[in-house]
Formats: sequence, C-alpha cells, structure tokens
Amino acid sequence: MKQYMTTQRKKLISFLQEHPDRQFTAKEIFDILSEGSVSLSAVYRNLSVLEENGQITGVYREGCRDKYYRCQLSDKCKGSIHLTCTKCGKTLHMNKDSANTLIDAAASKDEFRITASKTVIYGVCKDCN
Ligand SMILES: [Zn+2]
Ligand SMILES: [Zn+2]
Repeated sequence: MKQYMTTQRKKLISFLQEHPDRQFTAKEIFDILSEGSVSLSAVYRNLSVLEENGQITGVYREGCRDKYYRCQLSDKCKGSIHLTCTKCGKTLHMNKDSANTLIDAAASKDEFRITASKTVIYGVCKDCN
C-alpha cells in the first residue's frame, strides 16, 4: 500500500512538472491521470501530502472552492519569483530586475534572504485588472 502511494505521488509530481506554471484542481488531475485505477480521494490525499512536503503549491482562486495545485520546481522556474493572479489563476515570472530589487531590498533593509523559487506574490494580472 505504501509503495502504491509513492508511485502515485511520483506520477502527480511529474505530471505537474510537465506543465510548469499551470494549475490544476484535484478533480482535473484525477480526470487526466487516474485511468480508473485511483480514487479521487486518493488524489486529494496525495496532493495534500505533496503540499505539506513543499513539493507543490496549492492556492485558492477568488470565488472558487477548489484548490489549484502546481509545481514550480522545474528548471524554467528556478530562481524566479512567481506572480499569481487571484482571479484567473495565471502565473507569471516576475521580471528579473524587479525580483533582484526586491531581493536586495529585503536583504539590506530587513536582513532577510528571500528564496525566490519559493516566493509567490498574489495580485491581479493585466487581463483581469
Ligand atoms: Zn515558473
Ligand atoms: Zn488574471
């Protein structure tokens, strides 16, 4: 049983890594991945374990009960600060100059070293504004 769960989690992670910066609900992932072999509740459970481990990020969108999951550990995302729109869920990479300014400011004024790849800033994107 334990082995089975591990395989399932690996599958979830690699699926999310193949779609960097796209977000899926547990139900969407279930529809795409399950092939009838897993239950939706197993997908929910595995996603929350992965989130607790910090391997994926789960966010709620405005006016939506479902949590959206994504993985930002892919190479493309390394070192990028992510900007996530709370209306449509779109995720962008913050411009490097702005990100560096923010990181430098935090380092010098707050004596805080920001881990860019783990940082997500929430707001509203250009299209939704
Ligand atoms: Zn990214
Ligand atoms: Zn938006």
